[in-house]
Amino acid sequence: MKKVLAIDAGGTKITCVVINENGEIIGDIEKYSTPKKIEELIKLFKDIITKYEETIDMIAFATAGAVNIDNTKVESSTPNMPYGYNKLDFSSLSKKPVFVENDANCAAWAEYKIGAAKGDKNTITITLGTGVGGGFIVEGKLIHGKSGRAGEVGSMKINGRGRVCTCGRKDCFESYASGSGLKMTAEEVAQTDKIFKKSIFNTKNPKDITTYDIIDGINKNDEYSKKVFSIWKNDLITGLINITNIFDPESIIISGGMGKFINTKEIENAINAEIVVSPVKIKLAKAGNYSGMIGSALLAINKF
Ligand SMILES: [Zn+2]
Repeated sequence: MKKVLAIDAGGTKITCVVINENGEIIGDIEKYSTPKKIEELIKLFKDIITKYEETIDMIAFATAGAVNIDNTKVESSTPNMPYGYNKLDFSSLSKKPVFVENDANCAAWAEYKIGAAKGDKNTITITLGTGVGGGFIVEGKLIHGKSGRAGEVGSMKINGRGRVCTCGRKDCFESYASGSGLKMTAEEVAQTDKIFKKSIFNTKNPKDITTYDIIDGINKNDEYSKKVFSIWKNDLITGLINITNIFDPESIIISGGMGKFINTKEIENAINAEIVVSPVKIKLAKAGNYSGMIGSALLAINKF
């Protein structure tokens, strides 16, 4: 059975583990802080690879950023990674085959192969965290587009309310449906709606209201918090309706930190009431915290 050294390269930590062709984790998971300099990061990658190189068949990276069509380089800017990261040719790191893929795509592949979307040939995994990421699987294939960058669902425009996104553009889906989006909605409602006067948070500066405050407020039956969350949820539903109408998927899988706050059945019913394609299932991700590494390992086995 083939074995892959899988490495998750994130802005705060580098995680690695060996994974077999069933997507099972074998051996210990190792974690390192992400070095600040590119030379140190390359040395860390090489040290990890040297340790496992003789016992594995290939190396698979899951990374932030858009990856080229050959799966050898990160091509977009990656502000959380060391300067020069997008110059690195991953294939130069080992004499064994090296594969690199965007982490949201890897997570989608893991859900498709061993997680919540198992058996669904058309499935989309949406990551709701600080931002919004997506991996699109259509007719059993991961969609890359002409440059490898397809699936940038966070940059889909919705609403037209004029909210400025962290990328500088207006009305990106991620500026509404991410965790940061919920915080922005909380601030907006606090500044514009008199419902805030009666809120348990009314002594707070609207800028300081957090995602967790809103969730806490809902549990305490705070009308302002319920209104904020309802607006956030409707924005999420709007985006998911667009995706469903375009791709007609069997399932949309929700991963990331915001997933635990949503009722998937309620979202599913709201979407299915408004779409023109056949009904979609909405489920929470099941492949776990290491889905990025599992997905990249399984994609690498497919490729080599
Ligand atoms: Zn944006």
